[in-house]
Amino acid sequence: MLRSNKQIWLILIFAAIVAMGLMLGLSIWFAVFSFLVLPLIFFVISFQIQWNFFLEAFNYKRTSQKVLALTFDDGPHPEITPQILDLLKKHNAKATFFCIGQHAEKHPEILKRILEEGHGVGNHSYSHKNTFPFFGESQIKTELEQTDAILKQANTLFRPPFGVTNPTIAKVVKETGHQVIGWNVRSFDTVIKNPQTITKRILNKVKPGSIILMHDTRPQTLEALKVILPRLSGHKLVTISQLQQA
Ligand SMILES: [Zn+2]
Repeated sequence: MLRSNKQIWLILIFAAIVAMGLMLGLSIWFAVFSFLVLPLIFFVISFQIQWNFFLEAFNYKRTSQKVLALTFDDGPHPEITPQILDLLKKHNAKATFFCIGQHAEKHPEILKRILEEGHGVGNHSYSHKNTFPFFGESQIKTELEQTDAILKQANTLFRPPFGVTNPTIAKVVKETGHQVIGWNVRSFDTVIKNPQTITKRILNKVKPGSIILMHDTRPQTLEALKVILPRLSGHKLVTISQLQQA
């Protein structure tokens, strides 16, 4: 089912290009090929949460104030998350942790510490399975509800696993009332092993109101943060909810 005008427009533009091609005498194979390309285009778009194509995500705050939101996905991790919390405390910084439900279930003491120290938490699915983007409505809804129960949060912030959005996820979050949170600075800390490269990427890209995507599961992220936090001392580091109100 098509639920977004943008999706309908994309298909109509495509159909118009195909019709024009056929009128100009291009072979029927041109039409067949064009419609085979369409799913590929949708696939590429599904990885671009910032484009707000399938749903409206909060990717940054338009502001001139020097406020930033650090976000950490995939934890809580038994070794890395507590060290990140120590660093944040040292620099008087707040962040938002998008927890995987089953990790938070395994490490309730870390979740408790995150909340006690004034950070935000968000839902990052229960299983974070590679197949999550292909889940049906009821499976996605169950994962969101399970995780909300573990996080003791009610339908608040949700970051889809891998940042993938699609019409099914869009429909579920509309029903459940979760706010989808994206980013506008990506650290690539799951693929980049060198902390200096991660540090440079982030410091070059931050602007007032940025949301920075990192992972509290990687040692290189921890190392990069040791350099990044003192360098961002001119900025106020806030939770997503605080950024929305800034
Ligand atoms: Zn993730």
